[in-house]
Amino acid sequence: MERGPTIKSLTEDTNKFLHKKIKEKVFGAIHSAPHLEDIQLISLNKKDKDNEEKIDKLLDKSTIEAENLHEYKLILETIGLSEDEIKDLLAHENAHANKAESLGAKHLSYKITIMIDKNNNYLYQPFSHIYIPEEWSDEKVKDTWVKIAKAPEEYGNKMSSSDIEMSQE
Ligand SMILES: [Zn+2]
Repeated sequence: MERGPTIKSLTEDTNKFLHKKIKEKVFGAIHSAPHLEDIQLISLNKKDKDNEEKIDKLLDKSTIEAENLHEYKLILETIGLSEDEIKDLLAHENAHANKAESLGAKHLSYKITIMIDKNNNYLYQPFSHIYIPEEWSDEKVKDTWVKIAKAPEEYGNKMSSSDIEMSQE
């Protein structure tokens, strides 16, 4: 009797495919990582739509997106972060995600942007892609962002500098 692929070999193939896909994403982002100084230079210029689009385009190429925590973990491993850094980062972003969902906002994906600093070291900026319903009032939107920004602290992790900024706006 003809036998198809076993469940085990199918899972292995899926994992191999996922690892390959993630390696490609990470190498692509590292390859196109912009210099932080260039981004700062552009943003020093007049704050208009063209410049914002320029920055978005640059950062988009060096940003990796993961649909779930498992994929995010694989991405962070491929980048070469230490086990402790990864654990900390996953707890942090997961806190934002849980809080967003609990407030009725949508956590869409986990992301990390790669840049190069002035000493030619790689910089990693992790963040969550969150959607807040447009029909909510300005006050509710603001309040929700503040609560999401503060979530890591509430869950026993620490807020990043951008979280602190957002929670004070
Ligand atoms: Zn954060």
